[in-house]
Amino acid sequence: MAEVPFLQAISVNRTYGGAEASGVKNINLEIIPGKITAIIGQSGSGKSTLLRLFYGLLSPEKGTVNFKGERILGPEEKLIPGHDAMKMVTQHTDDLNLFARVWDNVAAMLPSTNVRHKEEKTEQVLTQLNMMHLSLKRVADLSGGEKQRVAIARAIINRPEVLLLDEPFNQVDTSFREGLQHDIRQIVQETGLTVVMVSHDPAEVLSMADELIVLKDGEIVETGHPKTLYHSPVNLYTAELLTNCNVLTVDEAKVCGIESHKEAVVIYPEWIRINNVLKTNKWTVKQVLFKGFYDDLILENNGVILRVINDDSGKYKEGDIVGLKIKKWLEY
Ligand code: ADP
Ligand code: MG
Repeated sequence: MAEVPFLQAISVNRTYGGAEASGVKNINLEIIPGKITAIIGQSGSGKSTLLRLFYGLLSPEKGTVNFKGERILGPEEKLIPGHDAMKMVTQHTDDLNLFARVWDNVAAMLPSTNVRHKEEKTEQVLTQLNMMHLSLKRVADLSGGEKQRVAIARAIINRPEVLLLDEPFNQVDTSFREGLQHDIRQIVQETGLTVVMVSHDPAEVLSMADELIVLKDGEIVETGHPKTLYHSPVNLYTAELLTNCNVLTVDEAKVCGIESHKEAVVIYPEWIRINNVLKTNKWTVKQVLFKGFYDDLILENNGVILRVINDDSGKYKEGDIVGLKIKKWLEY
């Protein structure tokens, strides 16, 4: 007998107010247990709608959403909406008690029947999320990123099978984010927790996810491993979501020495090398954007603009003339 899928959407539609252009449509999806799945897409593409359908905060109009073979009940069918085996954290998760300490906020999720167990579990989850040093602080005195850690600690302390994250790191600064992303990955590896996250940050999904789901106008246009989707996206839309790519028309591509019979040519900045100047290959450095160990160069030739990475930071200045070698491109 085939194994029962873990978390699954079958031909799911959920639109708002009957409008064709909003919500999600024709969603067929299986979430792999014990992995991190990231849903990416432009704002309004249906990411939050999909997550809410998985959690049971919305009911599908058509199709079903199942958890381990059982239909997930919608908000009309349940006293407290939300699936019991799942937890969801969003930017707006604000059920924290600001005036209580971190420890008490987390411990409050457990019953008081076994005090020792309660203490052990609280310490365990605070350690997993690198928060023991904050345990005696009031939540009101924490930074935004630290508050999100408390929300996540509260969400996972009772060992849900699925953690749903709807852009919870948006307000968190970069250095903080990376630590939290790493800790979540670690927890997934250690405990087998399944994470489904929504994000619009390419760096975040590329480094965190085992599987990516690309949503466009409410439909899944592509799925796969982050590396596959980064290196050979089937859709231009995916390339634009995941990279800071140059998108050229066929005529513009000719200026780069590329003949294409399709509509668009995509060149990632790291696929371009600076080379010797030739008569037909002369680019002017328009801008140098210092990025630390590399520069982003904005180059121009016959009205065509290209963004190029130069890892020998400081080598070029505005007004310099350079040649280019394009190692790879994609056509759409
Ligand atoms: P995302 O999370 O990708 O930004 P959402 O799932 O929130 O997208 O929304 C998808 C589409 O559905 C958007 O066009 C949005 O305006 C619309 N939408 C979302 N929630 C509602 C609602 N409660 N009522 C009407 N339209 C909605
Ligand atoms: Mg959203």
